[in-house]
Amino acid sequence: MRVAVLSDIHANLVALEAVLEDVGQIDAIWHLGDVVGYGPDPDGVVARLVAAGAVGVAGNHDRAAVGGPEIDWFNPDAKAAMVWTRERISAETTSWLTDQPERRTESAALLVHGSPRDPIWEYITTASIARANIEAMGTTVGLFGHTHVPIAWIDNGRLEAISPKPGSAVALNGAARVLVNPGSVGQPRDGDPRASWLELDLEGRTATWHRVGYDIPAVQRSMRSAGLPARLAERLRHGL
Ligand code: ZN
Repeated sequence: MRVAVLSDIHANLVALEAVLEDVGQIDAIWHLGDVVGYGPDPDGVVARLVAAGAVGVAGNHDRAAVGGPEIDWFNPDAKAAMVWTRERISAETTSWLTDQPERRTESAALLVHGSPRDPIWEYITTASIARANIEAMGTTVGLFGHTHVPIAWIDNGRLEAISPKPGSAVALNGAARVLVNPGSVGQPRDGDPRASWLELDLEGRTATWHRVGYDIPAVQRSMRSAGLPARLAERLRHGL
């Protein structure tokens, strides 16, 4: 079974369309939350995921978009974009976002946005946080987003962090427990502005990260004309 894992799309429909074209034929699409927030097309992204049959989990931005208190922890630009999002999303988008669970298990893989032990908020950024979450996840494969940085934490008794190269497959040894981040579709933060997605081969136990260029200036124009914060449009060009 081959799965496309997408995270942190952030209402960037142009990036999502480019990724789905790159994905092509696939057995399943899993998303790891932060479907909305920051970007100019929340309804379009949700409708596209529904049409593609994607299943997934809620992120902190998705919870904030449907009225959650998460908005109180946002920085000023994120908050301004979230107020914009709340005012514009349709009833269908609100209901779909509300239905996304905090955790989901698909084909023995655990899906979360932040971390297995704190699925909405915790950032997995260090070996000690990764270690504690590998102990907490209860499956051999865990998938997370939230940091917008592609990485694989592999526990073979010794914990190893792999920063994946686009296009090269990382072997997920059958006995190992792994926590894997596909990177971000709509707002990458690893210095590469191209959209990032992960191809998971569950039988072959390999993970392959892909990067896809898209029309960043078009998205920046939409964001500016929508009145979204200028800094959020600017950062797309740098992938930071
Ligand atoms: Zn995010």
